[in-house]
Amino acid sequence: MNGNELNAKRDKVLLIYTGGTIGMVQDSTGALQPFALESIYEVLPELRRTSYAIDSCELERIIDSSNMTPDFWVDIANIIEQRYEDYDGFVVLHGTDTMAYTASALSFMFKNLSKPIVLTGSQLPLGMLRSDGRDNIICALEIASGREVIIPEVTILFESHLYRGNRSTKVSAENFDAFSSFNYPSLAKAGIKVSYKEHLILPMPSGELKVRKAFDRRIAVLKLFPGITPAVVESVLQTPDLQGVIIETFGSGNAPTEAWFIDALEAATRRGIIIFNVTQCKAGAVMMRQYQASCDMDRIGVIGGHDITIEAAVTKMMYLLGRFPNDKDKVRERLSMSLRGEITLNQREELDDDDC
Ligand code: ASP
Repeated sequence: MNGNELNAKRDKVLLIYTGGTIGMVQDSTGALQPFALESIYEVLPELRRTSYAIDSCELERIIDSSNMTPDFWVDIANIIEQRYEDYDGFVVLHGTDTMAYTASALSFMFKNLSKPIVLTGSQLPLGMLRSDGRDNIICALEIASGREVIIPEVTILFESHLYRGNRSTKVSAENFDAFSSFNYPSLAKAGIKVSYKEHLILPMPSGELKVRKAFDRRIAVLKLFPGITPAVVESVLQTPDLQGVIIETFGSGNAPTEAWFIDALEAATRRGIIIFNVTQCKAGAVMMRQYQASCDMDRIGVIGGHDITIEAAVTKMMYLLGRFPNDKDKVRERLSMSLRGEITLNQREELDDDDC
């Protein structure tokens, strides 16, 4: 590389490989399993032609993302935090199954993020002729380089759409267009060129980066269905040491009004368990008290989740319980606020203090 080329490659992106289909190979039974990805330039030599430099690294343990845990979120965050000053942006190669959870978790962990963190993966392994991985990686790197627009957010790039990470959901196990963001528009769309919707992107923060890594896993998700029995509800609510429950309700946040159900929730709230109401609908929001079927829950202190995704709700609850281990009121208060653009509120109610 001559001096001019080196000069041209002054922007740098770090590519972090965590596993997932993108780097998988078939074992002797034909099942896909992750394997260590060699240097990204070996796999995609065309990346040598980019105008920015790419370094790559990988997690100590490469996983199928169905094995994802908060410990891996911390490992990813540590890599980014340690090299934050050395790079203009970060791309995380991740399995699609839990990508929306990791993107949500990272969004909460990085307070005052001023550089792009773009997650991507693929539905077909890179080695396959029709793999969608090649385009996804190239596009994610382009966006993470921040050459055109700097996106100070954790995002997911998939099949030419760039979504806010904590608004995203995996919607297809077979289409290349595997993700969607039902309650917030995409931040950019890659066509002949990448067209950014700058008015939708979070503003550049002025404060100093803070990376918070404590998660409390003592939570549960209780998905309602017609005919759910008291035994099932109780088995969840009586989980030893439980700190919080996300209750997946119907429509705009509705649940059975039967006494046994409300009594069980009320007893749990009295034991200090936080109950967060998130709708099973993909689009739209919880509106407590719109129907009588949510009035009792509102009365006993169940917190409305607005239009949050289940992935963001799970990670936000784990994050807030980890952040305020001894102050449930702070957790409750912040669950209904927008910390990183994860919910839509009528007025801007984002916290302007340094707490979260
Ligand atoms: N099971 C894979 C994973 O999430 C699926 C994928 O990457 O698309 O790791």
